Amino acid sequence: MIGYFGDIIFETSDKKICNFNDFKQAASANYSEHSRYRKKSEREFIGPNNEGVSFTMKIRAGHGVRPRIMKDKLIKYCESGKVCPLVIGGHKIGGGYFAVMSGPCSVESKEQITYVAQRVQAAGASILRGGAFKPRTSPYSFQGLRAEGLELLQEARKVTGQPIVTELMNNEHIPLFVDAKVDMIQIGARNMQNFELLKAVGKLNVPVLLKRGLSSTLEELVMSAEYIMAEGNPNVVLCERGIRTFETSMRNTLDISAVPMLKKMTHLPVVIDPSHAAGIAFMVPALAQAAVAVGADGLMIETHNDPAKAKSDGAQSLTPDQFDALMNTIKPELEFFGKTLN
Ligand code: PEP
Ligand code: MN
Repeated sequence: MIGYFGDIIFETSDKKICNFNDFKQAASANYSEHSRYRKKSEREFIGPNNEGVSFTMKIRAGHGVRPRIMKDKLIKYCESGKVCPLVIGGHKIGGGYFAVMSGPCSVESKEQITYVAQRVQAAGASILRGGAFKPRTSPYSFQGLRAEGLELLQEARKVTGQPIVTELMNNEHIPLFVDAKVDMIQIGARNMQNFELLKAVGKLNVPVLLKRGLSSTLEELVMSAEYIMAEGNPNVVLCERGIRTFETSMRNTLDISAVPMLKKMTHLPVVIDPSHAAGIAFMVPALAQAAVAVGADGLMIETHNDPAKAKSDGAQSLTPDQFDALMNTIKPELEFFGKTLN
């Protein structure tokens, strides 16, 4: 398992040691430093072999950082019970910070994306979402404005200063995303196990929003995150967006249990996307409240200037006024749970 804390990347050979609590338990016993790694930036620690726990831990630290000091810091950090927040375009997510990403399913025009960006920002969203390249079930449905969509997102970012998150569907588009300085790359549900794509974004220095596959287990989601982190990119946010079940009255079933379980399995921030989970706008505010209560670190919500005319996912999109109302209900809730909206 690979985890991170600030600029420390730690790697354990034991699958059981995958979150800070597990690490703390294992690390509080004595264990010896292994000198096999001569390089200053990488050390290996051999864990105790009591209670069936046996592991090796490598700490790869940033330039000039002493692994031993980092290990002590990491243990202290574990003891504080906090998780290190991840930063996206100046906004923190995780570790007590709650971030809301909102915007239309698809970028449709300059006026549309700029207007929605201003409205969701005014309501309290910190990150603008908008699809430029769209993964559609039918090849005859709107496929997104593609490169032009990326340009329009950049223009909206110029107006509001908000970072942008948008979906990357294949490796060939990476240069476009890098040129556009996309602040967070979304890997959609349909690509969660596109391992070549995961490895490619793992080589970038850009945070990744990894959405759970339509029928993927949490273990599979975490392993996909590992593909990204194993390439050196530790900045991954997991997203529960509803899964396929036997229920047909909604687009998907929101697996609210995924949040506490993922928090047990990893140290990564977890956000909920109630829009794609429900597929129907009226359910989105209630599910957003549930997301806050269950301990999610953020939300992704589709907001459209005119949902009835949206080129994709209109049925689940909120109007800007409905988004305002939703934010007004979750703000006191966040305060109650001691989270900071940012
Ligand atoms: C989206 O965010 O518009 C989207 C296509 O999401 P998902 O991959 O979760 O279906
Ligand atoms: Mn959508």
